[in-house]
Amino acid sequence: MQGSLRGHDDRRVVIIGGGPAGLTAAYELCKAGWKALVLEKDNTVGGLARTVNYKGYHFDIGGHRFFTKVKLIEELWHEILGEDLLRCRRLSRIYYNKRFFFYPFRTSNALFGLGILNSMLILLSYLKAQLFPEKPEETFEQWVSNRFGKRLYRIFFKTYTEKVWGIPCSEIRAEWAAQRIKGLSLLTAIKNTLFAHKKSRNADVIKTLIDSFYYPKLGPGMMWEKMAKRVEEMGGTVFLGADVQRIMLKDSRVSSVEVNLNGMIKTIGGTHFISSMPIRELIHKLEPSPPEEVTIAASNLKYRDFLTVVLIVNRKEVFPDNWIYIHDPEVKVGRVQNFKNWSPYMVPDQNKTCLGLEYFCFEGDSLWTMPDEELIRLGQKELEMLGLIDASEVEDGTVFRMPKAYPVYDSTYKESLSTIRRFLSSIENLQLVGRNGMHKYNNQDHSMLTAILAARNIMGANYDLWQVNEEKEYLEETVEGREQTDIKLLASTQPKVPTRITEKDKATIPDEIIVKAFAKLDKLAFAVALGMVASLFFCILNLILLIKGDKEAIRMFQLINQYFIGYSVTPEGVAIGTIHSFLWGFMWGWLFAYVRNLILAFLIYKARRRAESMSLKDLLDQI
Ligand SMILES: Cc1cc2nc3c(=O)[nH]c(=O)nc-3n(C[C@H](O)[C@H](O)[C@H](O)COP(=O)(O)OP(=O)(O)OC[C@H]3O[C@@H](n4cnc5c(N)ncnc54)[C@H](O)[C@@H]3O)c2cc1C
Repeated sequence: MQGSLRGHDDRRVVIIGGGPAGLTAAYELCKAGWKALVLEKDNTVGGLARTVNYKGYHFDIGGHRFFTKVKLIEELWHEILGEDLLRCRRLSRIYYNKRFFFYPFRTSNALFGLGILNSMLILLSYLKAQLFPEKPEETFEQWVSNRFGKRLYRIFFKTYTEKVWGIPCSEIRAEWAAQRIKGLSLLTAIKNTLFAHKKSRNADVIKTLIDSFYYPKLGPGMMWEKMAKRVEEMGGTVFLGADVQRIMLKDSRVSSVEVNLNGMIKTIGGTHFISSMPIRELIHKLEPSPPEEVTIAASNLKYRDFLTVVLIVNRKEVFPDNWIYIHDPEVKVGRVQNFKNWSPYMVPDQNKTCLGLEYFCFEGDSLWTMPDEELIRLGQKELEMLGLIDASEVEDGTVFRMPKAYPVYDSTYKESLSTIRRFLSSIENLQLVGRNGMHKYNNQDHSMLTAILAARNIMGANYDLWQVNEEKEYLEETVEGREQTDIKLLASTQPKVPTRITEKDKATIPDEIIVKAFAKLDKLAFAVALGMVASLFFCILNLILLIKGDKEAIRMFQLINQYFIGYSVTPEGVAIGTIHSFLWGFMWGWLFAYVRNLILAFLIYKARRRAESMSLKDLLDQI
């Protein structure tokens, strides 16, 4: 891709990184007539979501599903790729103990696969976890065991999670899992309890997002190559081989960046800057250097790296899945992708299969530094051990290393990030977007959304990009809600402005009213209130009786003294009766509030548990 450095404009946006976020920002800006310049250090676009072409065999860095709850993003994918965006049904299984288990789980398959005895033990350990959960819940191990039982945790979560993150589950903080599995707010729980029909529609939406996805005909890179082309057609520029090495600050603004452009050092100015490069690198490239606490915070941000061994197998069909999770501690491979099952166009010859073996590692460790030929041999050997292929069927292979594939959420990252954000908030014309750009476990959709909002901020809006992918509700995106998501999200990140109430608004119950109506009743206050109302009512009624002097009515009323000892329709008796009626009112009020709170708490607990179990359905996908 070519472009020009000339044509300085008083509104040129310089974007660091040509991954999904950087390109989306450029696309959004160019559509609105702005000049955008993308600087990508690699010789291809797409970043982590690129597609590599090896002798006509296409493969991704991991498998990239295109799925989103944000309609705006889904529409953009279609706008870019049209018919080339295929709809795929998902099939993925877990390999454990020489057997395959569907993931998400299917009960009969799990029962038969694990055996009756093992299944009974799993059930018992699940019941134990439900009745006696480990407290305090500090580690990932405890978090998963409390929800699935220790036995299921050991079978289906421990090995894979430890392969991905390279640390024992007993050292991963529970907070990380809790953050991946979003809870349900009180409001949504109440709404789900009240409007039962919505629950099933929510469940359908989530099921669809898990069970099927979009995928470009030639892999995810196709999306980003087309988007880069569109950016250039609209007057934007995408420079490949453009490594940003220094970022110059002046008067609380970025004034320019220094770029190594295919061996030539260039200084490029702009009015606005967007960065999707890893934060750690960004901070160390700023000139003058930020205060020491900020550079230390940046150095504390950690990443998990990734390499994929691609094997071309001389067999038409190896397995039917898109990918298989490998829960076998005997082998190092974590996941095996079968790219042909994502799209048949990924292989040039339908009689061959292209498998991607995913190894999670740290840059510089023994796996990362292992020579390619050895890695290919390792891959062959491991696939044979797993019984997936015969090593002799492999006719070719290649290796692709990807540094900084996962931003690590360790015990210090939050603090480091807030130190960095505090400092960066003083730089007026710089915005951070994307995954490593914000040190956030963002998928493509959220990376793109941050970019769109950043572009709109440049055009005058005021969105808080850090709100993206922070929503608490997994179930909140109802079918109707999905149409509203963008509006809701945009509204929640925009400063509030008064708006006119529409007829539709009037027809729906405002959230505040629901929250008020279902707030916990204060037992004491309710009891006192009911006691006072009862005693006042009783007192007034008796006073009327006394004034009217209706003998028959007084005789009838007097019978109450069977319950209200000392009561009679006389001034003293009424005083005693009033105290009694207060006490009765108090007692019933307290009891009513207690029972009502209990029922509501139970319904909300049920709704929350249901929401949690829905989101636990694809826990492995989120690790
Ligand atoms: C194994 C794996 C599987 C995944 N699966 C999915 C999935 O199924 N679905 C999904 O939606 N998402 C998935 N993701 C996440 C997805 O890849 C990211 O959300 C997305 O790529 C983030 O886009 P980005 O533009 O923010 O960052 P990146 O893709 O990291 O792009 C940043 C770009 O900045 C460039 N850059 C860095 N430093 C410089 C510099 N100094 N100068 C110039 N350029 C620089 C990089 O070369 C890179 O191209 C997966 C990620 C991984 C690692």
